[in-house]
Amino acid sequence: MRKNQSRLKDERYILLKSMLEERRSDITEKLRSLRESLPTESGEVRDAEEQSVDDFVQDVDLTLMQMKAETLRKIDEALQRLENGTYGLCTECRKELPAARLRALPFAALCRDCQAFQEERETESRDTHDLENRLGRLAAIPAR
Ligand SMILES: [Zn+2]
Repeated sequence: MRKNQSRLKDERYILLKSMLEERRSDITEKLRSLRESLPTESGEVRDAEEQSVDDFVQDVDLTLMQMKAETLRKIDEALQRLENGTYGLCTECRKELPAARLRALPFAALCRDCQAFQEERETESRDTHDLENRLGRLAAIPAR
Protein backbone atom coordinates (compact mmCIF):
# COMPACT_ATOMS: atom_id res chain seq x y z
CA MET A 1 0.00 0.00 0.00
CA ARG A 2 2.75 2.35 0.98
CA LYS A 3 4.64 1.45 -2.18
CA ASN A 4 1.60 2.30 -4.27
CA GLN A 5 1.26 5.64 -2.61
CA SER A 6 4.82 6.68 -3.28
CA ARG A 7 4.51 5.58 -6.88
CA LEU A 8 1.38 7.64 -7.15
CA LYS A 9 3.36 10.56 -5.78
CA ASP A 10 6.08 10.01 -8.36
CA GLU A 11 3.56 9.92 -11.15
CA ARG A 12 1.98 13.10 -9.90
CA TYR A 13 5.39 14.68 -9.70
CA ILE A 14 6.29 13.72 -13.28
CA LEU A 15 2.90 14.83 -14.55
CA LEU A 16 3.15 18.15 -12.77
CA LYS A 17 6.69 18.74 -13.87
CA SER A 18 5.95 18.11 -17.51
CA MET A 19 2.81 20.22 -17.34
CA LEU A 20 4.64 23.13 -15.74
CA GLU A 21 7.51 22.86 -18.17
CA GLU A 22 5.14 22.76 -21.10
CA ARG A 23 3.39 25.86 -19.84
CA ARG A 24 6.75 27.45 -19.31
CA SER A 25 8.00 26.95 -22.87
CA ASP A 26 4.64 28.07 -24.20
CA ILE A 27 4.91 31.36 -22.33
CA THR A 28 8.57 31.84 -23.22
CA GLU A 29 7.63 31.45 -26.87
CA LYS A 30 4.75 33.94 -26.61
CA LEU A 31 6.97 36.41 -24.81
CA ARG A 32 9.53 36.20 -27.57
CA SER A 33 7.02 36.87 -30.35
CA LEU A 34 5.46 39.65 -28.34
CA ARG A 35 8.83 41.29 -27.88
CA GLU A 36 9.49 41.08 -31.61
CA SER A 37 6.14 42.65 -32.45
CA LEU A 38 6.72 45.68 -30.28
CA PRO A 39 7.14 48.82 -32.35
CA THR A 40 10.71 49.98 -32.25
CA GLU A 41 11.81 53.56 -31.90
CA SER A 42 12.09 54.62 -35.51
CA GLY A 43 12.79 58.28 -35.02
CA GLU A 44 10.23 59.16 -37.69
CA VAL A 45 8.13 62.20 -37.22
CA ARG A 46 4.53 61.12 -36.76
CA ASP A 47 1.34 62.89 -35.93
CA ALA A 48 0.08 62.83 -32.39
CA GLU A 49 -2.83 60.51 -33.10
CA GLU A 50 -0.63 57.87 -34.66
CA GLN A 51 1.75 58.21 -31.78
CA SER A 52 -0.93 57.75 -29.17
CA VAL A 53 -2.29 54.61 -30.88
CA ASP A 54 1.22 53.23 -30.90
CA ASP A 55 1.64 54.14 -27.27
CA PHE A 56 -1.58 52.38 -26.44
CA VAL A 57 -0.61 49.21 -28.30
CA GLN A 58 2.74 49.26 -26.60
CA ASP A 59 1.11 49.74 -23.21
CA VAL A 60 -1.15 46.74 -23.73
CA ASP A 61 1.70 44.59 -24.99
CA LEU A 62 3.89 45.56 -22.08
CA THR A 63 1.15 44.74 -19.61
CA LEU A 64 0.68 41.39 -21.32
CA MET A 65 4.40 40.75 -21.20
CA GLN A 66 4.51 41.62 -17.52
CA MET A 67 1.65 39.23 -16.80
CA LYS A 68 3.34 36.44 -18.71
CA ALA A 69 6.68 37.08 -17.08
CA GLU A 70 4.93 36.92 -13.73
CA THR A 71 3.33 33.56 -14.60
CA LEU A 72 6.71 32.34 -15.76
CA ARG A 73 8.23 33.26 -12.43
CA LYS A 74 5.44 31.44 -10.59
CA ILE A 75 6.00 28.32 -12.68
CA ASP A 76 9.72 28.43 -11.97
CA GLU A 77 9.03 28.71 -8.28
CA ALA A 78 6.53 25.84 -8.42
CA LEU A 79 9.15 23.69 -10.16
CA GLN A 80 11.62 24.61 -7.44
CA ARG A 81 9.16 23.66 -4.71
CA LEU A 82 8.55 20.41 -6.57
CA GLU A 83 12.29 19.73 -6.45
CA ASN A 84 12.72 20.43 -2.76
CA GLY A 85 9.51 18.76 -1.68
CA THR A 86 7.56 21.76 -0.47
CA TYR A 87 5.17 21.78 -3.42
CA GLY A 88 1.57 22.05 -2.30
CA LEU A 89 2.35 24.01 0.85
CA CYS A 90 1.54 27.68 1.25
CA THR A 91 4.82 29.58 1.08
CA GLU A 92 3.58 32.04 3.70
CA CYS A 93 1.86 30.03 6.41
CA ARG A 94 3.01 26.51 5.37
CA LYS A 95 -0.52 25.22 5.41
CA GLU A 96 -1.28 22.48 2.92
CA LEU A 97 -3.09 23.80 -0.15
CA PRO A 98 -6.40 22.12 -0.94
CA ALA A 99 -6.17 19.69 -3.86
CA ALA A 100 -8.92 21.53 -5.70
CA ARG A 101 -6.91 24.75 -5.60
CA LEU A 102 -3.83 23.00 -6.95
CA ARG A 103 -5.85 21.44 -9.73
CA ALA A 104 -7.18 24.82 -10.78
CA LEU A 105 -3.88 26.63 -10.22
CA PRO A 106 -0.99 24.13 -10.41
CA PHE A 107 1.58 26.82 -9.65
CA ALA A 108 -0.31 28.38 -6.76
CA ALA A 109 2.10 29.29 -3.99
CA LEU A 110 -0.31 30.67 -1.43
CA CYS A 111 -3.44 29.49 0.28
CA ARG A 112 -6.60 31.45 -0.28
CA ASP A 113 -6.13 33.63 2.79
CA CYS A 114 -2.51 34.55 2.10
CA GLN A 115 -3.36 35.12 -1.58
CA ALA A 116 -6.14 37.54 -0.71
CA PHE A 117 -3.84 39.37 1.65
CA GLN A 118 -1.11 39.65 -0.97
CA GLU A 119 -3.49 40.82 -3.69
CA GLU A 120 -4.70 43.54 -1.42
CA ARG A 121 -1.14 44.71 -0.92
CA GLU A 122 -0.35 44.49 -4.64
CA THR A 123 -3.42 46.46 -5.62
CA GLU A 124 -2.39 49.20 -3.28
CA SER A 125 1.12 49.48 -4.67
CA ARG A 126 -0.20 49.24 -8.25
CA ASP A 127 -2.57 52.11 -7.66
CA THR A 128 0.26 54.26 -6.40
CA HIS A 129 2.36 53.26 -9.38
CA ASP A 130 -0.45 54.07 -11.82
CA LEU A 131 -0.92 57.47 -10.32
CA GLU A 132 2.77 58.23 -10.59
CA ASN A 133 2.71 57.11 -14.22
CA ARG A 134 -0.22 59.33 -15.07
CA LEU A 135 1.28 62.31 -13.33
CA GLY A 136 4.50 61.72 -15.22
CA ARG A 137 2.65 61.64 -18.53
CA LEU A 138 0.70 64.74 -17.67
CA ALA A 139 3.94 66.55 -17.02
CA ALA A 140 5.30 65.37 -20.38
CA ILE A 141 2.51 67.00 -22.38
CA PRO A 142 3.85 70.25 -23.75
CA ALA A 143 1.83 73.32 -22.81
CA ARG A 144 0.49 75.25 -25.78
ZN1 LIG B 1 -1.19 30.67 3.68
